[in-house]
Amino acid sequence: MQPYQSRTLAALRIPHGFTRRDPSLPADGAISWNVGRETALANRRVWWRRLGVPLDSTVFPHQVHADRVAKVTRAERGCGAERPESAIRETDALVTAESGLALAVQCADCVPILIYAPDIPAVAAIHAGWRGTVQRILDRVLDLLLDEGQRPEALWVVFGPSIGPCCYEVGEDVAAAWLAATCGTGAPALSRRSGRLTFDLWRANRLLLEQRGVPADRIEVSGICTRCRPDEWFSYRACGPRAGAQAAVIALPCDTE
Ligand SMILES: [Zn+2]
Repeated sequence: MQPYQSRTLAALRIPHGFTRRDPSLPADGAISWNVGRETALANRRVWWRRLGVPLDSTVFPHQVHADRVAKVTRAERGCGAERPESAIRETDALVTAESGLALAVQCADCVPILIYAPDIPAVAAIHAGWRGTVQRILDRVLDLLLDEGQRPEALWVVFGPSIGPCCYEVGEDVAAAWLAATCGTGAPALSRRSGRLTFDLWRANRLLLEQRGVPADRIEVSGICTRCRPDEWFSYRACGPRAGAQAAVIALPCDTE
């Protein structure tokens, strides 16, 4: 089984991919440490071969559902890739402007977001669940990229497989936090039908990007709901806290340096 790929990033020849559930691998191919260290590491080695990216050049953050962004360089090469202790501390988004370095985030319903910023050039990998979305982690990443000379209208952004509006029921507290964070402009990402309140994380993060001037046609949404397809994807809501996770990975192509 091959990693899922974005049409946009594939056309731009950006090395990237999303790992998924693969029943031929132990723990169905989960890459998260909660399935056991040896299993997770063995699965990472298989998936990274399939991705065509060296695992020991990849950087993983230690994700905490907050809004910290870390810019990484070759000094952090391999951090978190082969053991959890070396992951970039308390970080949910990584950015790099160096080639020869890959970035990875892991998700099991939360939205994995990959960005290619051609003006710098740089790439970013972001983990955005409801907490990261409400804390506007995408804005923190855009602050950094625009600061470094990236034009918002030239960005490419991809939302990978994650829980969709079909399945993401939330409480009033989440809706209130999102509305407060967006001064009410985020309302289109919420909907209420027969007593069910749902939060569309794809729409919410798209709104944040569009408010910063990223054109709608430069945002690719996979539209794949992990909760609807637990046979193909890891889903926390479908399988509980013992569910494994999939990775989203991106790197700058080597010839852009
Ligand atoms: Zn769904």
